[in-house]
Amino acid sequence: MPHSTADLAVVGAGPAGLAAAVTAADLGLSVTLLDAGARPGGQYYRQPAPGLGAERPQALHHDWRAFADLTRRLEAHRRRGGITYLPHHHVWAVLPSGDTGSWTVHTRADRAAEAPAPAGAAAEATGPGGETEAPAPVIARAVLLATGSYERQLPFPGWTLPGVVGAGGAQAMLKAGLVLPGRRIVVAGSGPLLLAVAASLSAAGARVPAVVEASGYGGYAAHTAALARNPAKLVEGARYGSALVRHHTRLLTRHAVVEAHGTDRVEAVTVARLDRDWRPVPGTARRIPCDAVAVGHGLVPELSLATGLGCATRTAADGTVALALTDDLRTSVPGVWSAGETGGIGGAQLALVEGALAAHAIAGAARAAGPGARTAPAAPAASGSAASAAPESLRRARARLRAFADAMGAAHRPGEGWTEWLADSADVCRCEEVTAGEIREAVTDLGARDARTVKLLTRAGMGWCQGRMCGPALAALCGVPPAPDRRPLACPVPLRRLAALPADPS
Ligand SMILES: Cc1cc2nc3c(=O)[nH]c(=O)nc-3n(C[C@H](O)[C@H](O)[C@H](O)COP(=O)(O)OP(=O)(O)OC[C@H]3O[C@@H](n4cnc5c(N)ncnc54)[C@H](O)[C@@H]3O)c2cc1C
Repeated sequence: MPHSTADLAVVGAGPAGLAAAVTAADLGLSVTLLDAGARPGGQYYRQPAPGLGAERPQALHHDWRAFADLTRRLEAHRRRGGITYLPHHHVWAVLPSGDTGSWTVHTRADRAAEAPAPAGAAAEATGPGGETEAPAPVIARAVLLATGSYERQLPFPGWTLPGVVGAGGAQAMLKAGLVLPGRRIVVAGSGPLLLAVAASLSAAGARVPAVVEASGYGGYAAHTAALARNPAKLVEGARYGSALVRHHTRLLTRHAVVEAHGTDRVEAVTVARLDRDWRPVPGTARRIPCDAVAVGHGLVPELSLATGLGCATRTAADGTVALALTDDLRTSVPGVWSAGETGGIGGAQLALVEGALAAHAIAGAARAAGPGARTAPAAPAASGSAASAAPESLRRARARLRAFADAMGAAHRPGEGWTEWLADSADVCRCEEVTAGEIREAVTDLGARDARTVKLLTRAGMGWCQGRMCGPALAALCGVPPAPDRRPLACPVPLRRLAALPADPS
């Protein structure tokens, strides 16, 4: 089978993957950078589609300079041949390459109609009927997984109504499509992303009557050392706080949206006060009119490729399953590293630092392994960015930012009582239309003790999203902590692609 080779394959071109790719190339490694998306930047540096003609995409972003620096370095390395950048490449599996110690990265080409590949990006053949041909796999001595995260959704009655969108989803609509999900938008859920989303939506002209935060901010008080080490985070929080005041947005802490109302689309929400375990307090419900709800309860690391490889996981402070990583970002599988949200939700700045740190570690390992990897610096590193800092300062920055991430995760971790707002009639698995009542029946009457058994009994989690939406709720209704999913394929792949693999995939 034809293939291309690299010292390092980086999966994910968000802040972590971009920082890793350019730093590794600075250090002399040949790098292939793959991403399912059309443009580099991941979730944080999401940009408007070129056809929209946005004149100042940076207006929707903080820290655009860091991104501009990374893309400039990506472009320079690409021209010199140090980095092969493959947008529209969705990686469906990473498999050992025989007993060579290398890895084969298999991809599906997702050529979106909306945008051509950037100038110079590797071209891809088009087959009969406009179908893209299977892209050649990439064989690499090391792999860095920087696949980011997706939103954690805790369902409530009415959450499937048109106009109810993810909090990060609303941000993505704005950054990528320059559209708002409504004109009067309640922002709800838990975590610092809510403040950023409310600020963006308000600045773009929406009316945000309330930010409904299920936690209190008192949880941060138990982590004064982590707060003191991260004064910039406090400044950021204060900036969002003043934006709420400026836009006359109410901040309701220890409250949740417990129901959305409407016929063709959402027209109002019911908001209730919560006790410390996130149980709705009887008699506290009130209605807020709105035409959209942006709701999310934090983020969940995207681990499909990592768990497919058998990488060890841990439970993070926010209750999600994250990768167990060493100080230099190694997973438990030799030759596989990871950086950014996959190792625990922590924000774009931490992702940048971890990407650069992982690249230094991978380059060091390549040097130690000897022939086969280039070691001479291929390009001078740019000054001032996380990606160009020395490993020791990166390590210190990582420890500081991870401490803040843990404090943040603990402060916004969902309480166990939230399932009390989930009426039996509410859909939990929206792909397969399985209700909370059917799941409760599988647990209480049919004896299911884990999400997998519930899935086999009800089909919850078997649909298109493969449990990414309903997984946390399913685990909570079973009364078990979320468990890592292990799937051989990270995304749907045509059978003909699997049939084309050699009988022994190695
Ligand atoms: C919907 C959403 C909106 C967000 N909005 C904000 C915000 O407004 N402000 C803020 O501070 N933080 C926001 N965040 C969090 C922020 O995006 C992250 O902290 C930061 O981007 C983490 O960087 P990363 O490189 O780890 O991951 P990401 O930026 O998520 O990048 C991961 C990349 O991996 C790619 N990928 C994943 N799986 C595969 C695969 N199998 N094959 C190929 N490519 C793959 C994705 O396409 C993506 O480009 C948001 C997160 C989400 C999920």
